[in-house]
Amino acid sequence: MRKKILAANWKMNLTHSEAESYLQSFVTEIRDFSDVDVVIIPSFTAIPAALAASERIQTIRIGAQNMHWEKSGAFTGEISATMLRALYVRYVILGHSERRSLFGETDEIVNRKVKAALDAGLRPIFCIGESLHERDSNQFKQVLEGQIRKGLEGVPPRDLTEVVLAYEPCWAIGTGRTAPAEAEEAHAFIRSVLAALSDGATAERIRIQYGGSVKPDNVESLMREKNIDGLLVGGASLDPRSFAQIIRSTEAAVA
Ligand code: PEP
Repeated sequence: MRKKILAANWKMNLTHSEAESYLQSFVTEIRDFSDVDVVIIPSFTAIPAALAASERIQTIRIGAQNMHWEKSGAFTGEISATMLRALYVRYVILGHSERRSLFGETDEIVNRKVKAALDAGLRPIFCIGESLHERDSNQFKQVLEGQIRKGLEGVPPRDLTEVVLAYEPCWAIGTGRTAPAEAEEAHAFIRSVLAALSDGATAERIRIQYGGSVKPDNVESLMREKNIDGLLVGGASLDPRSFAQIIRSTEAAVA
């Protein structure tokens, strides 16, 4: 049984003091949970505040939204995996479609970051997903396979279970569109590619999150799908009540 993993990607929102208030409301709302993994992913400046506030619920993990692949050096404006580990950050989002489309991140760059994160003991939340055009022209399997093979190139099979895949079709991010059956088909396909990269048993242990317009009212239908092992939530995670509701609905679905 793969433990479900729910992650809140705050993107470039919430200052450190807003993060403190968020987490105060969030811990009151959620109180406790043990059947799912929960990761809060603030911007870099709010990470210490989020860590301090999360001490009230020890099971909350903190993630980062990006990192550089080098350990240190003349890379003005960048943050390394070592710096994140020193703050007790456990997860890092890599290859998010906004990084790919707005900041020119290629599969090769994402691959360097994935390997650097694993070397430093961080768990990558490795994002993949096709565009609307690629979906409509039925090229999505080819696109996903290319992203997986290039992004995970050189990652030893024993490290693959540390990686969380996040399937985020670009046509679903922030658009209000979700399609659980299409997502399940993509997740099953992603697992078959992971099995080809490693073996069936390893692929069965890798968690694959779905992301794209997740809201409290579509959690149940997504969670019913066999290969959907969690959610990466953008917009709806900015409201502590709605993210708490997403966690409760997931817990109810796995009970
Ligand atoms: C995201 O960008 O990671 C995301 C899933 O956003 P939203 O939930 O707002 O679609």
